[in-house]
Order: sequence, then structure tokens, then C-alpha cells
Amino acid sequence: MTAPAEAGLLDRDAAHLWHPYGAAGARQLYAVRGARGVHLDLEGPGGERHRAIDAMASWWSVVHGHGHPALVEALTRQAAAFPHVMFGGLTHAPAVDLAERLVAHTPAALEHVFLADSGSVSVEVALKLALQYQATRGRPSRRRFLTVRGGYHGDTAAPMGVCDPVDGMHAAFTSLVARHLFLPRPPAARWVPEGVAAAPMAPDAAPAGHWEADDAPLAAWEDEARAFTAAHADEIAGVILEPVLQGAGGMRVYDPRCLTVLRELCDEHGLLLIADEIATGFGRTGRWLACEGAGVAPDVLCLGKALTGGTMTGAAMLCTAEVAETVSRRDHGMPGALLHGPTFMGNPLMCAVASASLDLLTDPRDGWAAQVPRVEAGLRAGLAAAADLPAVTDVRVLGAVGVVELDRTVDVEPVTRAAVARGAWVRPFRRLVYVMPPYVSTDDDVATICAAVTGAVEEVCA
Ligand SMILES: *Cc1c(COP(=O)(O)O)cnc(C)c1O
Repeated sequence: MTAPAEAGLLDRDAAHLWHPYGAAGARQLYAVRGARGVHLDLEGPGGERHRAIDAMASWWSVVHGHGHPALVEALTRQAAAFPHVMFGGLTHAPAVDLAERLVAHTPAALEHVFLADSGSVSVEVALKLALQYQATRGRPSRRRFLTVRGGYHGDTAAPMGVCDPVDGMHAAFTSLVARHLFLPRPPAARWVPEGVAAAPMAPDAAPAGHWEADDAPLAAWEDEARAFTAAHADEIAGVILEPVLQGAGGMRVYDPRCLTVLRELCDEHGLLLIADEIATGFGRTGRWLACEGAGVAPDVLCLGKALTGGTMTGAAMLCTAEVAETVSRRDHGMPGALLHGPTFMGNPLMCAVASASLDLLTDPRDGWAAQVPRVEAGLRAGLAAAADLPAVTDVRVLGAVGVVELDRTVDVEPVTRAAVARGAWVRPFRRLVYVMPPYVSTDDDVATICAAVTGAVEEVCA
């Protein structure tokens, strides 16, 4: 049944629309009446209006805030030229410009770019690429992937298979989800910044600080990883994981030395290392790419979320020349071509706005390297008080990501309401209230976010 036209927006929504991980007809929503800079103008269920900072950067993506003039300009200029053309048999300057930028700003060995329409699709393409790579080299038995528990790689069928089997509800989708191989979660670590925390960095500099992690859990994890990989090497095409920070699987920071171990194992056994930096890329963790924190370069890299500055959907998969050349060779019955081609591949609007976003991010004066350390310092200072609340078991900050973990599952609606009333939009999940503010957030914005999170947890979880 369609809701009457005079009904409120939330009733009309509930009549027809699904929301992420939602039930049909669910009504606990706010309506966005406007979004500008770091702010959302929200209308609540009773018609009440709120101005709230988008502390989620709309799920990692809106790093420059909403409606950034440079992004809107790139988008409208390209919309006036040509918003879309097919990519089969055609190319255009926006796609070439974006590919050149991506290659310039990722590890040197990554040279070939597949432009996908969402993060999940870029992971699908990375997995297919790895299977084709092994088959073209005459190793068709290498059809599975090795990953770690607690990961998240997207909601379509192939990525689901490498998500955490429990969180990813594998049991509900057995006919869709392939059976892959799982190592335990990598042991936790904590980044301790040094010196003037808020000092801007040179874009290619490493932040000052050190990792704090115990050696014993690492040694145990490494032993298991080595033995397990050796035992299964002939069935494994590649290793996929989120470098340093596991996002949707629990916002957990792990020991970067695990990545070094996996890089060694991939080299030893001829496996491709696939870094899923869809959430962690573009400076979010305090490094341009999180894998740089471990000094590790992947064979395949997935980027998404902030790629377009949150303006529209868009993702990219990059791989080394060796992988690209192998897959492009007709050998062992393989076709000599990468077998994927979405309708909206290389969409010109997406490419134009992604290039504009990359130019903002890599600006040497006020790009990510100046912005993220400042947001990080604000989060560290502002969330420290949350650690003293009785319901809070851990507070962790890495780059422009702040996480407050509770001793219980968060009651999402009341915590959200209490945070919005204090001026910050958050979307808690499981036991986590977490934020990843837009990089353009001022010190005052970050302080508002931290006070809202702390106040909401204190009010609701007393
Ligand atoms: C969000 C996310 C994805 C999926 O991207 P979509 O654009 O939602 O399809 C994949 N991997 C990681 C690490 C993510 O955070």
C-alpha cells in the first residue's frame, strides 16, 4: 500500500524503502533536509529539527564535508560535458586523469586500474583477478582465499565469503558463499603518537609515534599463519584483508607486523596479497594508505568510500604490472582478458569528482596530511574522558577514527537521539559508538562530536 501523498516523509519511506540492514517498514529514521560542510540538517520523527555534525562522514566517505565547492564544480562541469558513456571500446579524459592520479599516489608497483562502481564490486574484481592470475599460470587448483576473522569486505556474494563467517552470517547464505580459509583475528595493537600531536605532516612523511603491542600473541599468531598457509598453499589464490584497522567487523586496530608476516608468506608461496583499503585509504588511519604503516606493498589494492569525497558511488582496483600482464596472456585455457565489465564502469562523473577530491587531499598545505593529525589530536583529547565511564571498556583512536567500546550492545535509537540532541550524528553498532569525522572538521567540531558521544553514552548507559 502506498502512503497518502500528504503523509510525512517517514511514513512514505516506511511504505516502500529498504535501508541498510533494515526491516521493511522500519521507522526509526531522521530525514535529511540539507547537508552543507560538516553539518546535516535533520528532521526527527516528531518533526523536530536538529543541526548535527556528520561524525560518520556518511560512512567514511565525506572527507571534505558536504557540498565542497571544488567537488560540485567538477561534477557540474562534467555533467554539462557528458555525464556517462559506456567504457567498452571508448575512453575519456576523466578516466585517464583519474587512473594517472591513482597510480601516482599508490605504491610504485601498482600500475593498472579497474574503475568499479562500488567497493563490493572492486573486491569481486580483485578476487576474480587473483583466480584468473593463478589459472593463467597453470595453477587452477588455487581457488580459495585466505583471510582473517573479523574482516569485512562488502555485501555482494564473493566478498561475503571472505567476511567474518559469524558476523557475515555465512550460515544464512550457504548456497552463495564459497568456503574460504580463516586465520584468527590478528592480535591487537595501539598507536602511541609522539611530540606535538597536532603538527601537520609533509604529505609523504610518516607520523611521529610508535606501536604498542605484545610480542607473545604475535609470535603465536605468526606460527599459526605460517603452518596453516604452508598446509593449504596449493588451494590458495591470494590473501585478502583490511590493513591495520578492521572496520565494519569491529573497528579493531591490529599489530601491523601481521601484515609483514602475510607479505612474506605470499612471496614464499606465490599468493597475491590483496589490501582492502576501501575504508582505511586516503589518510583515514593517519597514513595515506594503512598498509604503509607496516611498510608493506600489496599486489592488489581496493579503494572506495572516500574516493569521490563522498559525492557519489565509485571504487577502484589496482594491481601490479606482473599481475596485469599475466592475466592478459592467453595461457592454460584462460582468455587473456580480465572478465568483468560493469555498465557504469569508468563513469565520467565519478572519475571527474574523484580526481578533484584527490587534488584536495594531496594539497601540500591543507590536504589530508595537515587535517588528519589535527582531527586525531582532537579525538584523543576529547574522548579521553569516556574511558572513565562505567559502561566503557575501551577507547581507541587511530588517525581520524575514534572508537568507544562498551560492555554491552549499544541501544542504537536512544544513543543516536542523545548524540543528535548534543549536535553529532552517529550510527553505533554492536558494542561500539564510533566516529570518523570529515577531515575539514574544526577543533570545535571535533570537541562537539566527542562531547556528544561521551554525553550520550553517559546518559543512556548509566
Ligand atoms: C564498505 C566496505 C566495503 C564495501 O564497499 P561498498 O561500497 O559498500 O560496496 C568493502 N570493504 C571494506 C573494508 C569496506 O569498509
